[in-house]
Amino acid sequence: MSLFSKTAGQDKWKEKYLNLLDEQEQSEQSYQEKEGLLCKIIVRLTIATAGLDPLLDPHLLDIRDQLKNGINSHALKAALEKFTTLVIPSPQNQSVETDLLFDFLLQQYLTEQHQNALKRLKNKAETVKFKNPNQLFIAILEIIEPDDDIPPPNIIANQIDIGIVSRQLLLLLEGIEIPSIFDQQAQAAKQLLAASNQTATAFETILDKSFKLLLKIKQHNQSEQQDIDKFLAHLTEQLTALDVSLIGASTAAIESAENRSKLDKSVSEQMEELKLSSTNATKLEPLKGIINSRLANIAKEIQDHNQKETIRRKKTQQQLDDLVDKIKNLESESCDLKSKLKIANTQALRDALTGLPNRNAYNERLETELARWKRYHSPLSLIVWDIDHFKNINDSYGHKAGDKVLLLIAKQLSEHSRTTDFISRFGGEEFTMLLPNTDSQSALILANQLRQTIEKTGFNASGTAVAITVSCGVTKFITGDTDETAFERADQALYQAKQQGRNQCCIL
Ligand code: GH3
Ligand code: MG
Ligand code: MG
Repeated sequence: MSLFSKTAGQDKWKEKYLNLLDEQEQSEQSYQEKEGLLCKIIVRLTIATAGLDPLLDPHLLDIRDQLKNGINSHALKAALEKFTTLVIPSPQNQSVETDLLFDFLLQQYLTEQHQNALKRLKNKAETVKFKNPNQLFIAILEIIEPDDDIPPPNIIANQIDIGIVSRQLLLLLEGIEIPSIFDQQAQAAKQLLAASNQTATAFETILDKSFKLLLKIKQHNQSEQQDIDKFLAHLTEQLTALDVSLIGASTAAIESAENRSKLDKSVSEQMEELKLSSTNATKLEPLKGIINSRLANIAKEIQDHNQKETIRRKKTQQQLDDLVDKIKNLESESCDLKSKLKIANTQALRDALTGLPNRNAYNERLETELARWKRYHSPLSLIVWDIDHFKNINDSYGHKAGDKVLLLIAKQLSEHSRTTDFISRFGGEEFTMLLPNTDSQSALILANQLRQTIEKTGFNASGTAVAITVSCGVTKFITGDTDETAFERADQALYQAKQQGRNQCCIL
Protein backbone atom coordinates (compact mmCIF):
# COMPACT_ATOMS: atom_id res chain seq x y z
CA MET A 1 0.00 0.00 0.00
CA SER A 2 2.71 2.29 1.04
CA LEU A 3 4.85 1.30 -1.92
CA PHE A 4 1.93 1.69 -4.23
CA SER A 5 1.24 4.89 -2.64
CA LYS A 6 4.89 5.90 -2.90
CA THR A 7 5.03 4.90 -6.56
CA ALA A 8 1.80 6.60 -7.28
CA GLY A 9 3.02 9.67 -5.37
CA GLN A 10 6.33 9.71 -7.25
CA ASP A 11 4.50 9.46 -10.54
CA LYS A 12 2.29 12.31 -9.59
CA TRP A 13 5.22 14.52 -8.54
CA LYS A 14 7.06 13.67 -11.79
CA GLU A 15 4.01 14.53 -13.85
CA LYS A 16 3.65 17.77 -11.94
CA TYR A 17 7.36 18.60 -12.49
CA LEU A 18 7.11 17.93 -16.20
CA ASN A 19 4.00 20.10 -16.43
CA LEU A 20 5.82 22.92 -14.65
CA LEU A 21 8.76 22.60 -17.06
CA ASP A 22 6.32 22.87 -19.96
CA GLU A 23 4.72 25.93 -18.40
CA GLN A 24 8.09 27.57 -17.78
CA GLU A 25 9.15 26.87 -21.32
CA GLN A 26 5.93 28.41 -22.64
CA SER A 27 6.27 31.32 -20.23
CA GLU A 28 9.87 31.97 -21.32
CA GLN A 29 8.81 31.83 -24.92
CA SER A 30 5.95 34.23 -24.24
CA TYR A 31 8.28 36.54 -22.31
CA GLN A 32 10.79 36.59 -25.15
CA GLU A 33 8.01 37.28 -27.60
CA LYS A 34 6.72 40.11 -25.41
CA GLU A 35 10.20 41.46 -24.86
CA GLY A 36 10.80 41.45 -28.59
CA LEU A 37 7.45 43.12 -29.16
CA LEU A 38 8.18 45.73 -26.46
CA CYS A 39 11.56 46.46 -27.99
CA LYS A 40 9.95 46.88 -31.40
CA ILE A 41 7.31 49.22 -29.98
CA ILE A 42 9.88 51.32 -28.15
CA VAL A 43 12.13 51.49 -31.23
CA ARG A 44 9.18 52.52 -33.40
CA LEU A 45 8.14 55.10 -30.82
CA THR A 46 11.64 56.56 -30.73
CA ILE A 47 11.58 56.75 -34.51
CA ALA A 48 8.13 58.35 -34.45
CA THR A 49 9.06 60.94 -31.84
CA ALA A 50 12.47 61.79 -33.34
CA GLY A 51 12.71 65.45 -34.32
CA LEU A 52 10.12 66.65 -31.77
CA ASP A 53 12.76 68.03 -29.43
CA PRO A 54 16.47 68.36 -30.29
CA LEU A 55 17.33 67.84 -26.63
CA LEU A 56 15.59 64.46 -26.55
CA ASP A 57 16.83 63.16 -29.90
CA PRO A 58 20.32 61.92 -28.79
CA HIS A 59 18.72 60.08 -25.85
CA LEU A 60 16.10 58.50 -28.07
CA LEU A 61 18.91 57.33 -30.39
CA ASP A 62 20.81 55.97 -27.40
CA ILE A 63 17.76 53.99 -26.22
CA ARG A 64 17.13 52.72 -29.74
CA ASP A 65 20.73 51.52 -30.19
CA GLN A 66 20.67 49.69 -26.90
CA LEU A 67 17.43 47.95 -27.70
CA LYS A 68 18.81 46.73 -31.05
CA ASN A 69 21.42 44.72 -29.11
CA GLY A 70 18.83 43.25 -26.75
CA ILE A 71 17.76 44.48 -23.37
CA ASN A 72 20.57 45.42 -21.02
CA SER A 73 18.51 46.54 -18.05
CA HIS A 74 21.37 48.41 -16.34
CA ALA A 75 22.32 50.52 -19.40
CA LEU A 76 18.67 50.98 -20.36
CA LYS A 77 17.82 52.25 -16.86
CA ALA A 78 20.58 54.90 -17.02
CA ALA A 79 19.43 56.08 -20.47
CA LEU A 80 15.82 56.15 -19.30
CA GLU A 81 16.71 58.29 -16.25
CA LYS A 82 18.47 60.90 -18.44
CA PHE A 83 15.51 60.89 -20.78
CA THR A 84 13.03 61.23 -17.88
CA THR A 85 14.73 64.33 -16.41
CA LEU A 86 14.36 66.04 -19.77
CA VAL A 87 10.78 64.97 -20.42
CA ILE A 88 9.26 65.61 -16.98
CA PRO A 89 9.48 69.25 -15.88
CA SER A 90 11.07 69.99 -12.52
CA PRO A 91 8.75 70.63 -9.54
CA GLN A 92 10.18 74.19 -9.35
CA ASN A 93 9.03 74.97 -12.90
CA GLN A 94 5.67 73.43 -12.20
CA SER A 95 5.23 75.64 -9.18
CA VAL A 96 6.09 78.78 -11.20
CA GLU A 97 3.53 77.83 -13.83
CA THR A 98 0.93 77.10 -11.14
CA ASP A 99 1.62 80.53 -9.60
CA LEU A 100 1.13 82.22 -12.98
CA LEU A 101 -2.06 80.27 -13.55
CA PHE A 102 -3.49 81.30 -10.16
CA ASP A 103 -2.45 84.96 -10.68
CA PHE A 104 -4.24 84.90 -13.98
CA LEU A 105 -7.39 83.30 -12.53
CA LEU A 106 -7.45 85.70 -9.55
CA GLN A 107 -7.47 88.58 -12.03
CA GLN A 108 -10.24 87.02 -14.08
CA TYR A 109 -12.58 85.96 -11.25
CA LEU A 110 -13.12 88.86 -8.92
CA THR A 111 -16.06 87.79 -6.76
CA GLU A 112 -15.28 87.18 -3.09
CA GLN A 113 -16.36 83.55 -3.41
CA HIS A 114 -14.04 82.91 -6.39
CA GLN A 115 -11.15 84.78 -4.81
CA ASN A 116 -11.36 82.89 -1.48
CA ALA A 117 -11.76 79.49 -3.10
CA LEU A 118 -8.91 80.12 -5.57
CA LYS A 119 -6.58 81.32 -2.78
CA ARG A 120 -7.40 78.25 -0.69
CA LEU A 121 -6.68 75.96 -3.64
CA LYS A 122 -3.45 77.82 -4.43
CA ASN A 123 -2.24 77.26 -0.85
CA LYS A 124 -3.18 73.60 -1.10
CA ALA A 125 -1.34 73.27 -4.44
CA GLU A 126 1.78 74.76 -2.82
CA THR A 127 1.76 72.47 0.20
CA VAL A 128 0.15 69.27 -1.09
CA LYS A 129 1.39 68.34 -4.55
CA PHE A 130 -1.33 66.95 -6.75
CA LYS A 131 -0.38 63.50 -8.04
CA ASN A 132 -1.88 64.28 -11.38
CA PRO A 133 -1.98 67.85 -12.83
CA ASN A 134 -5.46 67.03 -14.10
CA GLN A 135 -6.67 66.81 -10.51
CA LEU A 136 -5.56 70.39 -9.90
CA PHE A 137 -7.15 71.52 -13.11
CA ILE A 138 -10.45 69.84 -12.28
CA ALA A 139 -10.39 71.43 -8.82
CA ILE A 140 -9.90 74.83 -10.50
CA LEU A 141 -12.75 74.21 -12.90
CA GLU A 142 -15.04 73.27 -10.02
CA ILE A 143 -14.33 76.65 -8.44
CA ILE A 144 -14.62 78.88 -11.46
CA GLU A 145 -17.45 77.16 -13.31
CA PRO A 146 -19.51 75.26 -10.75
CA ASP A 147 -22.42 73.53 -12.37
CA ASP A 148 -25.02 72.17 -10.00
CA ASP A 149 -26.72 70.11 -12.67
CA ILE A 150 -23.64 68.16 -13.54
CA PRO A 151 -22.16 65.86 -10.90
CA PRO A 152 -18.51 66.54 -10.06
CA PRO A 153 -16.09 64.66 -12.31
CA ASN A 154 -14.91 61.35 -10.99
CA ILE A 155 -11.25 61.79 -10.29
CA ILE A 156 -10.78 58.61 -8.33
CA ALA A 157 -7.89 56.57 -9.65
CA ASN A 158 -6.99 59.35 -12.10
CA GLN A 159 -10.11 58.77 -14.15
CA ILE A 160 -11.61 61.91 -15.68
CA ASP A 161 -14.95 62.52 -17.26
CA ILE A 162 -13.50 64.06 -20.39
CA GLY A 163 -16.83 65.40 -21.61
CA ILE A 164 -17.46 67.43 -18.43
CA VAL A 165 -13.91 68.75 -18.22
CA SER A 166 -13.95 69.72 -21.90
CA ARG A 167 -17.20 71.55 -21.44
CA GLN A 168 -15.94 73.40 -18.37
CA LEU A 169 -12.69 74.32 -20.10
CA LEU A 170 -14.65 75.54 -23.10
CA LEU A 171 -16.77 77.72 -20.78
CA LEU A 172 -13.60 79.13 -19.25
CA LEU A 173 -12.11 80.00 -22.65
CA GLU A 174 -15.36 81.60 -23.74
CA GLY A 175 -15.67 83.54 -20.48
CA ILE A 176 -12.33 85.32 -20.54
CA GLU A 177 -11.21 88.18 -22.72
CA ILE A 178 -8.75 86.82 -25.23
CA PRO A 179 -6.31 89.22 -26.91
CA SER A 180 -6.81 89.25 -30.68
CA ILE A 181 -3.38 87.76 -31.38
CA PHE A 182 -4.51 84.56 -29.62
CA ASP A 183 -7.81 84.39 -31.48
CA GLN A 184 -6.72 81.59 -33.85
CA GLN A 185 -5.18 79.44 -31.10
CA ALA A 186 -8.21 79.96 -28.88
CA GLN A 187 -10.53 79.08 -31.73
CA ALA A 188 -8.58 75.87 -32.43
CA ALA A 189 -8.58 74.94 -28.73
CA LYS A 190 -12.33 75.58 -28.50
CA GLN A 191 -12.99 73.39 -31.55
CA LEU A 192 -10.92 70.57 -30.08
CA LEU A 193 -12.71 70.88 -26.75
CA ALA A 194 -16.09 70.93 -28.44
CA ALA A 195 -15.35 67.66 -30.31
CA SER A 196 -17.22 64.89 -28.50
CA ASN A 197 -15.14 61.85 -29.46
CA GLN A 198 -11.90 62.51 -27.65
CA THR A 199 -9.60 59.83 -26.46
CA ALA A 200 -7.90 60.25 -23.10
CA THR A 201 -4.51 60.77 -24.77
CA ALA A 202 -5.82 63.36 -27.21
CA PHE A 203 -7.58 65.09 -24.34
CA GLU A 204 -4.32 65.35 -22.39
CA THR A 205 -2.74 67.12 -25.37
CA ILE A 206 -5.72 69.48 -25.65
CA LEU A 207 -5.57 70.10 -21.92
CA ASP A 208 -1.87 70.87 -22.13
CA LYS A 209 -2.40 73.24 -25.08
CA SER A 210 -5.21 74.99 -23.29
CA PHE A 211 -3.07 75.51 -20.18
CA LYS A 212 -0.21 76.87 -22.26
CA LEU A 213 -2.58 79.20 -24.08
CA LEU A 214 -3.94 80.53 -20.77
CA LEU A 215 -0.42 81.14 -19.49
CA LYS A 216 0.55 82.92 -22.73
CA ILE A 217 -2.52 85.17 -22.36
CA LYS A 218 -1.51 85.92 -18.80
CA GLN A 219 2.07 86.85 -19.86
CA HIS A 220 0.74 88.93 -22.75
CA ASN A 221 -1.61 90.76 -20.41
CA GLN A 222 1.26 91.44 -18.04
CA SER A 223 3.36 93.03 -20.80
CA GLU A 224 0.31 94.90 -22.09
CA GLN A 225 -0.34 96.20 -18.59
CA GLN A 226 3.21 97.59 -18.60
CA ASP A 227 2.47 99.37 -21.89
CA ILE A 228 -0.73 100.74 -20.35
CA ASP A 229 1.19 101.94 -17.29
CA LYS A 230 3.73 103.74 -19.51
CA PHE A 231 0.99 105.24 -21.58
CA LEU A 232 -0.88 106.41 -18.45
CA ALA A 233 2.30 107.88 -16.95
CA HIS A 234 2.79 109.87 -20.15
CA LEU A 235 -0.85 110.88 -20.11
CA THR A 236 -0.60 112.00 -16.48
CA GLU A 237 2.45 114.12 -17.34
CA GLN A 238 0.56 115.80 -20.19
CA LEU A 239 -2.45 116.45 -18.02
CA THR A 240 -0.27 117.80 -15.21
CA ALA A 241 1.36 120.21 -17.68
CA LEU A 242 -2.08 121.18 -18.87
CA ASP A 243 -3.20 121.68 -15.29
CA VAL A 244 -0.21 123.94 -14.57
CA SER A 245 -0.95 126.09 -17.60
CA LEU A 246 -4.58 126.30 -16.56
CA ILE A 247 -3.62 127.38 -13.05
CA GLY A 248 -1.39 130.05 -14.60
CA ALA A 249 -4.19 131.20 -16.83
CA SER A 250 -6.81 131.36 -14.12
CA THR A 251 -7.88 134.75 -12.80
CA ALA A 252 -8.89 135.82 -9.35
CA ALA A 253 -12.43 136.55 -10.40
CA ILE A 254 -15.04 134.52 -8.51
CA GLU A 255 -16.89 133.52 -11.64
CA SER A 256 -13.64 132.41 -13.17
CA ALA A 257 -12.76 130.43 -10.05
CA GLU A 258 -16.15 128.75 -10.11
CA ASN A 259 -15.77 127.88 -13.79
CA ARG A 260 -12.28 126.65 -13.08
CA SER A 261 -13.52 124.54 -10.20
CA LYS A 262 -16.19 122.99 -12.44
CA LEU A 263 -13.55 122.23 -15.06
CA ASP A 264 -11.20 120.74 -12.44
CA LYS A 265 -14.02 118.55 -11.14
CA SER A 266 -14.90 117.38 -14.61
CA VAL A 267 -11.25 116.68 -15.54
CA SER A 268 -10.75 114.83 -12.23
CA GLU A 269 -13.83 112.72 -12.87
CA GLN A 270 -12.65 111.91 -16.37
CA MET A 271 -9.24 111.02 -14.96
CA GLU A 272 -10.83 108.76 -12.34
CA GLU A 273 -12.79 107.02 -15.07
CA LEU A 274 -9.58 106.67 -17.06
CA LYS A 275 -7.85 105.09 -14.07
CA LEU A 276 -10.78 102.74 -13.57
CA SER A 277 -10.77 101.82 -17.25
CA SER A 278 -7.03 101.15 -17.14
CA THR A 279 -7.32 99.05 -13.99
CA ASN A 280 -10.01 96.88 -15.52
CA ALA A 281 -8.45 96.83 -18.96
CA THR A 282 -6.86 93.73 -20.32
CA LYS A 283 -6.27 95.05 -23.81
CA LEU A 284 -4.36 98.15 -24.82
CA GLU A 285 -6.18 99.01 -28.05
CA PRO A 286 -9.69 99.38 -26.57
CA LEU A 287 -8.16 101.27 -23.64
CA LYS A 288 -6.46 103.66 -26.05
CA GLY A 289 -9.82 104.17 -27.70
CA ILE A 290 -11.46 105.00 -24.35
CA ILE A 291 -8.58 107.29 -23.39
CA ASN A 292 -8.63 109.12 -26.72
CA SER A 293 -12.35 109.64 -26.36
CA ARG A 294 -11.93 110.90 -22.76
CA LEU A 295 -9.07 113.15 -23.86
CA ALA A 296 -11.23 114.55 -26.62
CA ASN A 297 -13.90 115.29 -23.99
CA ILE A 298 -11.37 116.93 -21.69
CA ALA A 299 -9.89 118.96 -24.56
CA LYS A 300 -13.36 120.08 -25.59
CA GLU A 301 -14.25 121.09 -22.05
CA ILE A 302 -11.02 123.04 -21.76
CA GLN A 303 -11.69 124.71 -25.10
CA ASP A 304 -15.25 125.58 -24.02
CA HIS A 305 -13.92 126.80 -20.70
CA ASN A 306 -11.32 129.00 -22.43
CA GLN A 307 -13.90 130.39 -24.84
CA LYS A 308 -16.29 131.17 -22.00
CA GLU A 309 -13.41 132.59 -20.00
CA THR A 310 -12.34 134.82 -22.91
CA ILE A 311 -15.88 136.09 -23.36
CA ARG A 312 -16.25 136.54 -19.62
CA ARG A 313 -12.95 138.40 -19.41
CA LYS A 314 -13.90 140.69 -22.29
CA LYS A 315 -17.24 141.30 -20.64
CA THR A 316 -15.65 141.88 -17.25
CA GLN A 317 -13.01 144.13 -18.80
CA GLN A 318 -15.73 146.10 -20.56
CA GLN A 319 -17.66 146.35 -17.30
CA LEU A 320 -14.51 147.43 -15.51
CA ASP A 321 -13.75 150.04 -18.18
CA ASP A 322 -17.32 151.32 -17.96
CA LEU A 323 -17.06 151.39 -14.21
CA VAL A 324 -13.77 153.29 -14.34
CA ASP A 325 -15.32 155.78 -16.77
CA LYS A 326 -18.34 156.17 -14.53
CA ILE A 327 -16.12 156.69 -11.49
CA LYS A 328 -14.03 159.26 -13.40
CA ASN A 329 -17.19 161.05 -14.49
CA LEU A 330 -18.54 160.89 -10.97
CA GLU A 331 -15.28 162.25 -9.59
CA SER A 332 -15.30 165.08 -12.10
CA GLU A 333 -18.99 165.74 -11.47
CA SER A 334 -18.36 165.60 -7.77
CA CYS A 335 -15.52 168.13 -8.16
CA ASP A 336 -17.74 170.39 -10.21
CA LEU A 337 -20.49 169.99 -7.71
CA LYS A 338 -18.16 170.75 -4.84
CA SER A 339 -16.86 173.88 -6.44
CA LYS A 340 -20.38 174.89 -7.45
CA LEU A 341 -21.57 174.18 -3.95
CA LYS A 342 -18.66 176.11 -2.58
CA ILE A 343 -19.48 179.00 -4.82
CA ALA A 344 -23.16 178.69 -4.06
CA ASN A 345 -22.37 178.47 -0.37
CA THR A 346 -20.12 181.44 -0.56
CA GLN A 347 -22.71 183.28 -2.55
CA ALA A 348 -25.38 182.17 -0.15
CA LEU A 349 -23.51 183.30 2.93
CA ARG A 350 -21.45 186.21 1.62
CA ASP A 351 -22.40 189.66 0.56
CA ALA A 352 -21.27 190.17 -3.01
CA LEU A 353 -20.43 193.85 -2.64
CA THR A 354 -18.51 193.98 0.60
CA GLY A 355 -17.46 190.33 0.93
CA LEU A 356 -18.81 190.29 4.47
CA PRO A 357 -21.06 187.49 5.76
CA ASN A 358 -24.65 188.22 4.77
CA ARG A 359 -27.89 187.97 6.69
CA ASN A 360 -28.11 184.17 6.20
CA ALA A 361 -24.63 183.81 7.61
CA TYR A 362 -25.62 186.03 10.50
CA ASN A 363 -28.63 183.81 11.24
CA GLU A 364 -26.48 180.67 11.15
CA ARG A 365 -23.83 182.15 13.38
CA LEU A 366 -26.43 183.56 15.76
CA GLU A 367 -27.84 180.06 16.22
CA THR A 368 -24.39 178.74 17.20
CA GLU A 369 -23.63 181.65 19.51
CA LEU A 370 -27.03 181.41 21.15
CA ALA A 371 -26.47 177.70 21.88
CA ARG A 372 -23.06 178.44 23.31
CA TRP A 373 -24.52 181.34 25.36
CA LYS A 374 -27.27 179.14 26.74
CA ARG A 375 -24.76 176.41 27.65
CA TYR A 376 -21.97 178.46 29.21
CA HIS A 377 -23.97 181.57 30.29
CA SER A 378 -21.14 183.76 29.06
CA PRO A 379 -22.46 187.20 27.99
CA LEU A 380 -23.40 187.73 24.34
CA SER A 381 -24.00 191.19 22.91
CA LEU A 382 -25.48 192.43 19.63
CA ILE A 383 -24.91 195.72 17.82
CA VAL A 384 -27.05 196.84 14.89
CA TRP A 385 -25.42 199.58 12.74
CA ASP A 386 -27.04 201.88 10.22
CA ILE A 387 -25.40 204.54 8.03
CA ASP A 388 -26.79 207.99 8.68
CA HIS A 389 -28.58 209.68 5.79
CA PHE A 390 -27.18 207.22 3.33
CA LYS A 391 -29.92 207.99 0.88
CA ASN A 392 -28.48 211.48 0.60
CA ILE A 393 -25.09 210.13 -0.39
CA ASN A 394 -26.65 208.07 -3.18
CA ASP A 395 -28.69 210.96 -4.24
CA SER A 396 -25.83 213.46 -4.07
CA TYR A 397 -22.91 211.46 -5.39
CA GLY A 398 -24.49 208.55 -7.20
CA HIS A 399 -25.13 204.94 -6.46
CA LYS A 400 -21.52 203.93 -7.12
CA ALA A 401 -20.33 206.38 -4.55
CA GLY A 402 -22.89 204.88 -2.20
CA ASP A 403 -21.37 201.44 -2.87
CA LYS A 404 -17.92 202.76 -2.10
CA VAL A 405 -19.24 204.13 1.20
CA LEU A 406 -20.70 200.69 1.97
CA LEU A 407 -17.28 199.11 1.25
CA LEU A 408 -15.55 201.70 3.39
CA ILE A 409 -17.82 201.10 6.38
CA ALA A 410 -17.43 197.32 6.01
CA LYS A 411 -13.65 197.70 6.00
CA GLN A 412 -13.63 199.92 9.09
CA LEU A 413 -15.91 197.61 11.05
CA SER A 414 -13.80 194.56 10.13
CA GLU A 415 -10.45 196.13 10.81
CA HIS A 416 -11.35 197.60 14.17
CA SER A 417 -13.16 194.73 15.74
CA ARG A 418 -11.84 191.58 17.51
CA THR A 419 -11.37 188.32 15.63
CA THR A 420 -14.02 186.69 17.77
CA ASP A 421 -16.58 189.35 16.79
CA PHE A 422 -18.85 188.39 13.89
CA ILE A 423 -19.72 191.19 11.47
CA SER A 424 -22.33 190.90 8.72
CA ARG A 425 -24.02 193.10 6.17
CA PHE A 426 -27.58 192.56 7.35
CA GLY A 427 -29.15 194.34 4.42
CA GLY A 428 -29.01 197.73 2.58
CA GLU A 429 -26.83 200.04 4.68
CA GLU A 430 -27.33 198.05 7.88
CA PHE A 431 -24.64 195.97 9.57
CA THR A 432 -24.72 193.70 12.62
CA MET A 433 -22.04 192.60 15.07
CA LEU A 434 -22.24 189.60 17.40
CA LEU A 435 -19.81 189.92 20.31
CA PRO A 436 -19.30 186.68 22.30
CA ASN A 437 -18.00 186.92 25.91
CA THR A 438 -18.91 190.63 25.87
CA ASP A 439 -21.39 192.36 28.14
CA SER A 440 -23.49 195.22 26.81
CA GLN A 441 -21.39 197.97 28.44
CA SER A 442 -18.17 196.69 26.88
CA ALA A 443 -20.07 196.37 23.61
CA LEU A 444 -21.18 199.96 23.90
CA ILE A 445 -17.61 201.15 24.50
CA LEU A 446 -16.41 199.19 21.45
CA ALA A 447 -19.32 200.55 19.38
CA ASN A 448 -18.51 204.13 20.24
CA GLN A 449 -14.84 203.62 19.39
CA LEU A 450 -15.86 202.28 15.97
CA ARG A 451 -18.36 205.00 15.42
CA GLN A 452 -15.68 207.62 16.11
CA THR A 453 -13.15 205.89 13.84
CA ILE A 454 -15.68 205.96 10.96
CA GLU A 455 -16.55 209.56 11.64
CA LYS A 456 -12.85 210.46 11.46
CA THR A 457 -12.22 208.51 8.28
CA GLY A 458 -14.50 210.59 6.05
CA PHE A 459 -15.09 209.97 2.35
CA ASN A 460 -13.91 211.63 -0.81
CA ALA A 461 -16.55 211.82 -3.49
CA SER A 462 -15.26 213.27 -6.79
CA GLY A 463 -12.85 215.50 -4.93
CA THR A 464 -15.40 216.53 -2.34
CA ALA A 465 -14.96 215.52 1.30
CA VAL A 466 -18.16 213.95 2.47
CA ALA A 467 -18.82 213.35 6.16
CA ILE A 468 -19.90 209.78 6.93
CA THR A 469 -21.41 208.86 10.28
CA VAL A 470 -23.10 205.79 11.62
CA SER A 471 -25.51 205.13 14.46
CA CYS A 472 -26.03 201.87 16.37
CA GLY A 473 -28.22 200.14 18.93
CA VAL A 474 -26.56 197.88 21.52
CA THR A 475 -28.14 195.13 23.57
CA LYS A 476 -27.18 191.91 25.33
CA PHE A 477 -28.98 188.61 25.24
CA ILE A 478 -31.03 188.05 28.34
CA THR A 479 -32.86 185.02 29.70
CA GLY A 480 -35.87 184.15 27.60
CA ASP A 481 -34.51 185.93 24.53
CA THR A 482 -34.91 184.53 21.06
CA ASP A 483 -32.87 185.71 18.12
CA GLU A 484 -35.75 187.98 17.16
CA THR A 485 -36.44 189.56 20.55
CA ALA A 486 -32.78 190.51 21.06
CA PHE A 487 -32.62 191.95 17.53
CA GLU A 488 -35.79 193.95 18.09
CA ARG A 489 -34.27 195.44 21.25
CA ALA A 490 -31.08 196.40 19.44
CA ASP A 491 -33.16 197.83 16.60
CA GLN A 492 -35.12 199.90 19.09
CA ALA A 493 -31.85 201.19 20.57
CA LEU A 494 -30.78 202.12 17.00
CA TYR A 495 -34.03 203.88 16.44
CA GLN A 496 -33.42 205.76 19.68
CA ALA A 497 -29.94 206.77 18.44
CA LYS A 498 -31.44 208.08 15.20
CA GLN A 499 -34.11 209.88 17.13
CA GLN A 500 -31.56 211.50 19.36
CA GLY A 501 -29.68 213.01 16.39
CA ARG A 502 -27.63 210.20 14.82
CA ASN A 503 -23.86 209.55 15.00
CA GLN A 504 -24.39 207.97 18.35
CA CYS A 505 -24.82 204.56 20.06
CA CYS A 506 -27.70 203.67 22.33
CA ILE A 507 -28.12 200.71 24.63
CA LEU A 508 -31.25 198.85 25.64
P1 GH3 B 1 -31.40 207.25 8.12
O1 GH3 B 1 -30.32 208.09 8.60
O2 GH3 B 1 -32.66 207.46 8.78
O3 GH3 B 1 -31.05 205.84 8.12
O4 GH3 B 1 -31.65 207.69 6.66
P2 GH3 B 1 -31.21 206.95 5.41
O5 GH3 B 1 -31.26 207.72 4.26
O6 GH3 B 1 -29.90 206.25 5.62
O7 GH3 B 1 -32.27 205.77 5.33
P3 GH3 B 1 -33.26 205.31 4.21
O8 GH3 B 1 -33.85 204.02 4.63
O9 GH3 B 1 -34.17 206.37 3.91
O10 GH3 B 1 -32.39 205.09 2.91
C1 GH3 B 1 -31.58 204.03 2.72
C2 GH3 B 1 -30.98 203.99 1.38
O11 GH3 B 1 -29.96 203.11 1.18
C3 GH3 B 1 -31.98 203.73 0.31
C4 GH3 B 1 -31.27 202.80 -0.66
O12 GH3 B 1 -31.27 203.25 -1.97
C5 GH3 B 1 -29.88 202.81 -0.20
N1 GH3 B 1 -29.27 201.60 -0.43
C6 GH3 B 1 -29.63 200.40 0.09
N2 GH3 B 1 -28.78 199.44 -0.39
C7 GH3 B 1 -27.85 200.05 -1.20
C8 GH3 B 1 -26.73 199.59 -1.96
O13 GH3 B 1 -26.40 198.40 -1.98
N3 GH3 B 1 -26.05 200.53 -2.66
C9 GH3 B 1 -26.36 201.82 -2.67
N4 GH3 B 1 -25.63 202.66 -3.36
N5 GH3 B 1 -27.42 202.24 -2.01
C10 GH3 B 1 -28.16 201.40 -1.25
MG1 MG C 1 -31.43 201.86 7.18
MG1 MG D 1 -29.56 204.65 7.17
